[in-house]
Amino acid sequence: MGPDMLVVFIGPPGAGKGTQSANLVSYLEIVHLSTGELLRASIDAGTRLGGIARAYINRGQLVPDAIMVDLIATRLSNPDCQPGCLLDGFPRTLPQARALDQMLAEQDRQLDVVLALHVPRDELERRLISRSGEEGRADDSPETIIHRLEIYERQTAPLIEYYRRRSKLSDIDGIGTMEEVFDRIKQAVDAAR
Ligand code: AMP
Repeated sequence: MGPDMLVVFIGPPGAGKGTQSANLVSYLEIVHLSTGELLRASIDAGTRLGGIARAYINRGQLVPDAIMVDLIATRLSNPDCQPGCLLDGFPRTLPQARALDQMLAEQDRQLDVVLALHVPRDELERRLISRSGEEGRADDSPETIIHRLEIYERQTAPLIEYYRRRSKLSDIDGIGTMEEVFDRIKQAVDAAR
């Protein structure tokens, strides 16, 4: 097992973040915290959180910050995250990023690196439209896809500059084969260890 690592992974829908997150957690042997997966599991389990989240997710909207911050605070303080974890899909807004900073400061922990996966918008639209139907996700209709991309640009992309100013950011070119992109990710996390 490697040293503690706290990694944040930012990327637009369709950039391949899910696949690369799976590669990265097995490479680093850390816990994978995917907020999208946590929310989908809550929906499937029929919990109160799932009931609230479903309406937002199906419209391609973000779940309110307060709910997401609570969810992550609970998971981050879980002992399984102490050796390290990959935050995939959180933070997604500036208020979430500030809440995360505060949470980590209280636990005397720090982010090691924030990976920002970059794929041009026209390529994302192409990939998402061809993926829709294959996976049968309720948030993959063409209108919802465009909406999710717009929300990403408006609400999540500003995090890139937020973390760049704090010298945490590593830009990853997301164009290429899965292996090529993963090689870039490995180099970035190895440099941060
Ligand atoms: P993902 O699988 O990461 O694309 O997430 C699927 C959906 O879950 C998103 O489109 C949002 O509706 C919701 N979601 C996931 N993470 C967050 C977050 N950090 N803040 C708000 N909504 C989120």
